[in-house]
Amino acid sequence: MEILETDDEPCEQCGLCCRIFGPGITPTEQNVYVWIEQGRTDILRWFVAFRENNSSINCADLRAEDLGDIVSVEMRNSDTGDYVTVCPFLRRVAKTRYLCGIHQVKPEMCCHYQPWIWGETYFNRCRGLEKAHRNSREPL
Ligand code: SF4
Ligand code: SF4
Repeated sequence: MEILETDDEPCEQCGLCCRIFGPGITPTEQNVYVWIEQGRTDILRWFVAFRENNSSINCADLRAEDLGDIVSVEMRNSDTGDYVTVCPFLRRVAKTRYLCGIHQVKPEMCCHYQPWIWGETYFNRCRGLEKAHRNSREPL
């Protein structure tokens, strides 16, 4: 969910993309580094890092100097280690309005998610995409 509070931002904050794609979010090494530096174990504990030797470690236990050994990072339930069914950072703030609970430091792939930009991730159920199409059809 791209939540920039600007007038020309088509995102309707319906939260659908986060509910569907959120569990598959993979943060970049830079995202993880920033979370470690900021002591954001509340975020880190929802991710597991896999090393080259196939061993894994919860990201809350990861040190910045260990990042070079990490080949992938995946979201997991912080209590059970299972896959999650919904992004744990999604917050419902009204009947049909959702916000990202970690907006300022959310993963890079969330920052760049803009289905209304041609060539970006296409998601035809995005209300923002529909709105952008509608606006582009309106007569000048
Ligand atoms: S981290 Fe935030 S923007 Fe990304 S999927 Fe979760 S709630 Fe959505
Ligand atoms: S599906 Fe589209 S309108 Fe809804 S939150 Fe995601 S980007 Fe915004």
